[in-house]
Amino acid sequence: MNVQTKSFQNKLFIGGEFVDGDAGGTIEVLNPHDNSPITEVAEAREADVDRAVTAAAEAFPAWRRMAAMDRGRLLLKLADAVEANADELTRLESIDTGHPLRDTRFLDVPRTAVTYRYFGGMADKFEGSVVPVEEGFLNYLLREPVGVVGQIVPWNFPLMFTSWKMGPALAAGNCVVLKPAELTPLSTLRIAELMREVGFPPGVVNIVPGYGPIAGQRLADHPDIHKLAFTGSTAVGRKIVESSAGNLKKLQLELGGKGANIIFEDANIPAAVGGSAFAIFHNQGQACIAGSRLILHEAIADEFLDKFIGLAKSIRLGDPLDENTEMGPLTSKMHQERVLKYCEVAKEEGGEILTGGKLPDDPALEKGCYIEPTVVRAKPSDRVCQEEVFGPFVSVTTFRDEEEVMEIANGTEYGLAGGLWTRDLQRAHRVAAQLISGMVWINCYKRVNPGSPFGGVRSSGYGREMGFDAMREYTQTKSVWVNVDAQIPPYYKR
Ligand code: NAP
Ligand code: MG
Repeated sequence: MNVQTKSFQNKLFIGGEFVDGDAGGTIEVLNPHDNSPITEVAEAREADVDRAVTAAAEAFPAWRRMAAMDRGRLLLKLADAVEANADELTRLESIDTGHPLRDTRFLDVPRTAVTYRYFGGMADKFEGSVVPVEEGFLNYLLREPVGVVGQIVPWNFPLMFTSWKMGPALAAGNCVVLKPAELTPLSTLRIAELMREVGFPPGVVNIVPGYGPIAGQRLADHPDIHKLAFTGSTAVGRKIVESSAGNLKKLQLELGGKGANIIFEDANIPAAVGGSAFAIFHNQGQACIAGSRLILHEAIADEFLDKFIGLAKSIRLGDPLDENTEMGPLTSKMHQERVLKYCEVAKEEGGEILTGGKLPDDPALEKGCYIEPTVVRAKPSDRVCQEEVFGPFVSVTTFRDEEEVMEIANGTEYGLAGGLWTRDLQRAHRVAAQLISGMVWINCYKRVNPGSPFGGVRSSGYGREMGFDAMREYTQTKSVWVNVDAQIPPYYKR
């Protein structure tokens, strides 16, 4: 492996041990900078998922009984271990995903540490309650863990999304079987090693890298998994809903998005230009919350676009491991082709490519999955304004007034996130209220914090990650009635 790791286990993590898959298969992991192989990891099949679920179920009774403070302490130690190994995790995530070092160093890795720390602190502070019922009775509510939870993570933010999923699940007392995307399993396996080092008991966490239709599908079908948390495409999300009917699993779905990013005529233009570039070009646009639809007031559209396109052209593409790189490759060849295809779709529908839409000219990048930052003028009803492209690809449309912009902004099947830029305080809150969206950013974009609920509405899914909402998602209420006055119930009283 061309990255220095203190140790690296490229196997499945089941019951506290790194083990080979039952069928002996492996998955080749590529570096998207040049598509060279980095390493191979063991592939989990159905039988391996079953073993992992059994290990989790065996670990569950002791884990849920452990004092919440002690469970929290393990997560706090894990947060420290992430920080102590930050440099290594930074490089590992960069070569596996293509995120430039400046992103992995300043965003992915620190956000991962703070998420484990937040939920470590939360473990012993998430309380039940008492309901004021009739005299003579006490009714108290316990928040109990669900049991064995399945978690399916995509390839766009593997390290960070793993912490968003495991942090609250473990703090609440669940045991976990997690499947990373087969494209990007490396940082998750390294986290499993750190978990073992800091003392998580065997079986509490199990990691099963494998293919979605095999290992992922088994998690969705498994009769002993009572909750499944999924991040990925809306199409696979729908399949998971169908599979969950078997044992009526509790689901949490974080699916696609088509973020509206609205620039009003009174916006601070330099701030909006920089913020909108971050909204779409950070992580090569591979974010469900990306501001992928730029919606400009017609009075400032030309001025804004001039500056925005200038900025897009100046973004430095390059090897993620180069300190100067501002944008890396997409995570896979297949995905690069998919994004390029949308450039053709845009043209077929009468759209105009204002910049980008092709591979960079640099011969040093020709083997990698690179695409130039792309800005496309299109109509709100075009496919590129309706479907998730998931790349450094932003559509531009204009509007005349607030009524029209709300219609455009709310005119997709999705409802995950959106942003708006204005100096008018009343308009800011009015528009935020009208956006059909799980998250709204005013004069900023793509802010996340472990305390702030994250998730969408409509075809963007349901349930929330982060904050107290995540703790509710990973627990269920038990209502306990006590007859405190030793009354004899009135019916059939003899
Ligand atoms: P995907 O197919 O939905 O994959 C997401 C995760 O689900 C991966 O771990 C995948 O496994 C797994 N999976 C696939 N089929 C499954 C099945 N039948 N049962 C259970 N799990 C299954 O997404 P993708 O192909 O990676 O990306 C395609 C599109 O999804 C993107 O272009 C984007 O629109 C969307 N996406 C959204 C997010 C987000 O953050 N909301 C993240 C990633 C992708 P394997 O990949 O290992 O086979
Ligand atoms: Mg890879």
